[in-house]
Amino acid sequence: MALLITDECIACDACREECPNEAIEENDPIYIIDPDRCTECVGHFDEPQCIAVCPVDCIISDPDNVENIEELKFKYEKLQEEE
Ligand code: SF4
Ligand code: SF4
Repeated sequence: MALLITDECIACDACREECPNEAIEENDPIYIIDPDRCTECVGHFDEPQCIAVCPVDCIISDPDNVENIEELKFKYEKLQEEE
């Protein structure tokens, strides 16, 4: 599933550059993840890079965007076609 940034976000900017899919954007007051671009890092890394760097652990699975591994791989392949 795509991931979600909660209100705990302190807008530190650590995650944005780490995202291989350019799915994270600065927003006011917290950062946001585009569910159409977040593959949970499937296709790039073994674990979500944003969660690994977030200093306040405010990135969670998005209950409204539940996807299985096949769907995440499909999304990854679609994003590759865009480039
Ligand atoms: S899990 Fe990966 S693809 Fe999704 S927002 Fe975080 S860094 Fe980007
Ligand atoms: S790393 Fe965490 S606290 Fe920093 S901008 Fe990203 S989500 Fe917010």
